[in-house]
Amino acid sequence: MGTRYNRFFGPVRDAMMRWLFWFVVLLAVVWWVRRRFFAADSSGPSGAGGVGRKQRKSSGEAESMVQCARCGVFVPASEAVRADGQTFCCEAHRQEGARARK
Ligand SMILES: [Zn+2]
Repeated sequence: MGTRYNRFFGPVRDAMMRWLFWFVVLLAVVWWVRRRFFAADSSGPSGAGGVGRKQRKSSGEAESMVQCARCGVFVPASEAVRADGQTFCCEAHRQEGARARK
């Protein structure tokens, strides 16, 4: 009975293992994509302690834009460099703006 039992469940187990393999691969891809998006979103690892789903304060298009006081370019508020109540698009313009004030 043992051989007939294995002959029936062998292919089934193989199919399940194949399915499991692709499921793990899919999970890995999803995890990798999520990690990439989170890294680009909030510049930094989310830490070891996963506290459920992290609530995002705002989506990309809902984020407020601020204008560079030096060149007038609009940049997302999270990427802007702030100094003396003014906002700049980058560190170089912040320094130029500070120099222009003096
Ligand atoms: Zn600028």
